[in-house]
Amino acid sequence: MLLGCIADDFTGATDLANNLVRSGMRTLQTIGVPAASLAADVDAVVVALKSRTIAADAAVAQSLAALAWLKRAGCRQFYFKYCSTFDSTPQGNIGPVAEALMDALGANIAIACPAFPTNARTIYMGNLFVGEVPLSESGMRDHPLTPMTDANLVRVLQAQSHARVGLVPWTAVAAGEAAIRARFAALVTAGVRLAVVDALSDTDLYAIAAACADHPLITAGSGVALGLPENFRRAGLLPQRADAADLPRVPGLAAVISGSCSQATNGQVEHWIASGRPAIRIDPMEIARGANVAAAALQQATSLLAGAPVLFYATAAPDAVKSVQAELGVAEAGALVEQALAAIAQGLIARGVKRLVVAGGETAGAVVQALGVAALKIGPQIDPGVPWTATLGAQTILLALKSGNFGSRDFFAKSLAQLDA
Ligand code: ADP
Repeated sequence: MLLGCIADDFTGATDLANNLVRSGMRTLQTIGVPAASLAADVDAVVVALKSRTIAADAAVAQSLAALAWLKRAGCRQFYFKYCSTFDSTPQGNIGPVAEALMDALGANIAIACPAFPTNARTIYMGNLFVGEVPLSESGMRDHPLTPMTDANLVRVLQAQSHARVGLVPWTAVAAGEAAIRARFAALVTAGVRLAVVDALSDTDLYAIAAACADHPLITAGSGVALGLPENFRRAGLLPQRADAADLPRVPGLAAVISGSCSQATNGQVEHWIASGRPAIRIDPMEIARGANVAAAALQQATSLLAGAPVLFYATAAPDAVKSVQAELGVAEAGALVEQALAAIAQGLIARGVKRLVVAGGETAGAVVQALGVAALKIGPQIDPGVPWTATLGAQTILLALKSGNFGSRDFFAKSLAQLDA
């Protein structure tokens, strides 16, 4: 085990794991800190926490528990993964978690680099840009939990850290690995422990990753991870792997569960129905009236499933969602639908479904919890940020967990077809 990662949310963990697999590391994602050691022959583990917006001391405690587990698993280098828009507040949790991990690892410097140029997240002179605008003028300005009103990451990180925060400017990054290392040394001499690092391209990310080869801890978005497997290969620790994305072949019935109401998912549900495939709608108002909607849907699906994959969807257009939320409340509506979809997932597995696509971040969380999944082996990418995965444990199930706005219009059928290609 080479690389141990701690991610502050579930879909962010998958994004990171997907990048590691694509760069040639066999990777496992765990849901929370595992209770015991895991029997899996992999190169990297990503522990998915839900620590982005909880209290800073709780985020620190969970992250340290994850670190302790990863150390016991034998990892040599550690990675704290946060969002590419640096989602945080003056209370944390990026600064407090980064400092606690550094202290635990005895690290004298760690980078902070959320850049992901492929997704138009770039950093110049410490300022994070989302597309063409500074972070503070992007939609993140109005985020309900972590509004980002300052694009200058040195200031943002300093406000939530005890350690001194400095900058590795793009001029050094563009000059390459040696110049970045020289800048790290100068910052350490100046008493800086956290270094925001500029990056405008994947070439920059690869140079940064190379310069961090001997850092015990890296804190970043998922971008810097692209360059880390090469460090391990250069050190002779990681062979060239053609099989990093391999998953077991699992024959069985297939289904799709969609609880996301985002624009992309609405299009994917429409596409599935328009192509004549079987679909069963889950009506939140019926659940609220006390009907056993999950049982009815499962009964309706039993004869259909043998013939073709079935879609179960609560997905609805914004107006319909608003009217349900107005009657039931946002949280109550969400919870009712998540419970019903999770019960459907359990029923499907009991009926022999072994290939399941789930749309929606919260929905995926509810399904994974209901199925008692502790860890996922990360497989081949379906669309950017969304890989197939296989559950670890007594029963192997193939899961594709898609956060709301990801995936092409034909994502559902395409992902299932990929398994037989
Ligand atoms: P996304 O990744 O698109 O944000 P999530 O699953 O994270 O998707 O969030 C969608 C939320 O909306 C879930 O809590 C889900 O239960 C809820 N939901 C799904 N369908 C409906 C609906 N028709 N009306 C109200 N809420 C819904």
